Parts: sequence; C-alpha cells; structure tokens
Amino acid sequence: MRTDQGPFEDGGESDLAAIGAMTQQENIDPTGVDASLRSGSLYLVATPIGNLEDITLRAVRVLREVELVLCEDTRHTGRLLNHLKIKKPLLSCHRFNERSRVKTVLNRLQSGERLALVSDAGSPGIRDPGARLIRAVWEAGYRVEPVPGPCAAVAALTASGLAADEFHFVGYLPVKSGRRAKALERLSRIRETIVIYESPHRIRKLSGELTVWFADRDLAVCRELTKRYEEVIRGTAPEIARRLTEQKPRGEYVLVVGETAKAKGNRASEANGTAPAGEIAEGDDRP
Ligand code: SAM
Repeated sequence: MRTDQGPFEDGGESDLAAIGAMTQQENIDPTGVDASLRSGSLYLVATPIGNLEDITLRAVRVLREVELVLCEDTRHTGRLLNHLKIKKPLLSCHRFNERSRVKTVLNRLQSGERLALVSDAGSPGIRDPGARLIRAVWEAGYRVEPVPGPCAAVAALTASGLAADEFHFVGYLPVKSGRRAKALERLSRIRETIVIYESPHRIRKLSGELTVWFADRDLAVCRELTKRYEEVIRGTAPEIARRLTEQKPRGEYVLVVGETAKAKGNRASEANGTAPAGEIAEGDDRP
C-alpha cells in the first residue's frame, strides 16, 4: 500500500535497511537456482519511477555485486545508490556517449567484470538509452541479463483499467506540428490500446489533440505514478481535456488510449466463443 509517508524520490525519507539486510544475507536464493552473478555479463537493472521502495531484491543485490554501474546521470544514480547504502563506481552512459562507451564496456566484460546498466528511472532501453550498447554486447558474445522491474508504460496500463492484451507503445510524439499530426493520424487507425509518454510542456496541447483524433475512445492520463501526487484521470477526450485545462501541468505523464469500439466488440465476441458480427464466412454455420 502506498502512503503519503512513503519513500518518495522527491524528498520523502525511508529506511531500506530491511531490503538491504535481506539481500545481504549470504546465499539468499529464493529461486532455487544459482543466483550468483556471472563474470563478463551486463545486467539491465530497472530502478524506481518515483517510489524508492519499487526496486526488486534482485536489483539491489545485482547493484551491490557488480564491479561498475553504467548510468544516464551519475548524480541521479548516485543518490539512489546512496539511499540503498551501496558504494559503487559509476560511469555515465547516455544518448550522447552511448556509442563511444561500447569499447570501454567490451574491454571490461572481456576482463571478466560484471556490469549493470540503469537509466534515470524505470527500465533501461524503454525510451531511454541502452539498445545500442546491449546489441553491441550480445553481438560480441557476452551475456546480457534483464533484471526487470518498474516501467512507467506498464504501470500506466495497469492503472488505466483499459484492455492490455495487445498494446502499441509510443515513447513521445514528434514535437513539430506536421510530423505530430501525421503520427496522431497514423495512431488513430490503430485499433488496440496505445500508450504514449508525454512531457508536461505538451500535455495540454495533447489534450486538445485527443478530442480530434481519439474522440470516441476511453482514455486515461496517468500523472506522477508511484509518487506523492499520483493521479489517474479516466474519461473521454473532452472530459480529459477539461480536467487538464483546469490544472497546471506538472510532473510526468503517460497517456493511455483505449482500444476502438470495434476491437472491444471483437474481444467480447471471442470471449463468448462467437465470431464477431460480419466476420462469419459464407457457409459457416457456427453459432
Ligand atoms: N525508462 C522509463 C520507463 O521504463 O518507463 C521511461 C523513461 S522516459 C525518458 C520518461 C517518461 O516516462 C516521462 O516523460 C513520462 O512520460 C514517463 N514517466 C516516467 N516516470 C513516470 C511517473 N512516475 N509517472 C508518470 N509517467 C512517468
């Protein structure tokens, strides 16, 4: 349960000693498999998107055991490690130097080091740097292991209550008007649920666009998930637009656009074991 006294990244205090103690116990092995880190491996470690309690026991152990942590911003990750009482060398790896880090990383893996890659928040590689480095590492024959955990897209999908059997992910729409309108037009033709990251500077603009492109779909705007001012606004495009114009855009946002009525109908028919209306082939006498 989340409380307002929780360990929020934006200033709350918490003692994670219990987690640390659990993972520090020698040979803790909840899975029954050998949990020790392998030499020459890159671990992709998901970190909290707000609430600092949202980090797995395995993530903490991996961060404690690796020789080096690659991160977007050394100050940001330094604060997280401090909070976890972990002292570890950090090396920046962000979108401006990811390519040039490849050689360093491969050299270190060759000498048998275990490395972790984290982003500022959530899962590395999900609208964050990582893909280029990860590919170079596995192409060079080294082991890459995910250490899964928080991801804003998944948290928003879950909170939205909208269908998540199939979904389309958009890590930010283009900023320039022409390309943005084209992207929205293309998205409006996708029948499944859509998850879009948006910055607070453009969330009002987006709310106006919703009424044009997604007028007939259920929506959810998820703000500051897992943080003190977490908010999920559910409704139709006009309802969402009205709510968003009432408040000052602040914090981090994910928009979830529900599936089209047709996709909803098809799924309902499948669930009932009947073919969707109009999709029964001629001569097919199934009910
Ligand atoms: N790698 C991250 C992940 O796994 O979700 C995403 C990084 S991306 C650069 C940052 C965007 O994710 C934000 O602009 C926002 O759209 C979304 N985001 C991250 N944290 C969030 C939160 N606590 N609440 C709502 N959205 C969040």
